[in-house]
Amino acid sequence: MRKEQLLIAFSGLNQGEHHFNFEIGNKFFEQIENSLIKKGNASVDVHFIKMSAMLQLHLSFTGNAQIECDRCLGEVFIPLSGKDELIVKLGGEEINDSSNIMTIGANDAEINITLFVYEMIALNLPFRKIPCEILNDQSVCDQEMLSKLNELRAEDQTNNNENNPLWDGLNKLKNLN
Ligand SMILES: [Zn+2]
Repeated sequence: MRKEQLLIAFSGLNQGEHHFNFEIGNKFFEQIENSLIKKGNASVDVHFIKMSAMLQLHLSFTGNAQIECDRCLGEVFIPLSGKDELIVKLGGEEINDSSNIMTIGANDAEINITLFVYEMIALNLPFRKIPCEILNDQSVCDQEMLSKLNELRAEDQTNNNENNPLWDGLNKLKNLN
């Protein structure tokens, strides 16, 4: 699989402000292990500040991600946007107590922000993945699938009442008397 890693080669840059933009697509999300997003795209902006012992990144993105609807199981694209900040320390002790601070070797020439960007986007996924509510458009849901699912649920309920183990147990007790 071709990798779509997001690398910033900073060793040749002057100290001060720089700007980067990354356009990412399906390949980006496919390379992430257990990705919560299977298909999507985003434009990622990085406001990058190089200092002598530290890099400061202000990231923001807008994009679309395909989600599976919790209600009708249909696959729909929803818009996402967000921002986050990352501090990269050059050399020194590794700090693991914050996901917003990264430590790299003093002689490293580039940083890899692939996972950081993935997490920034994935964190913006809604908890309730019901696209018609998110997009405020009832026509998004697969109505045919919804009525099928409702029928199945209703059948399930009837079966459950007939074969409820609690009633079986009570009936056995009754028969003992
Ligand atoms: Zn739906």
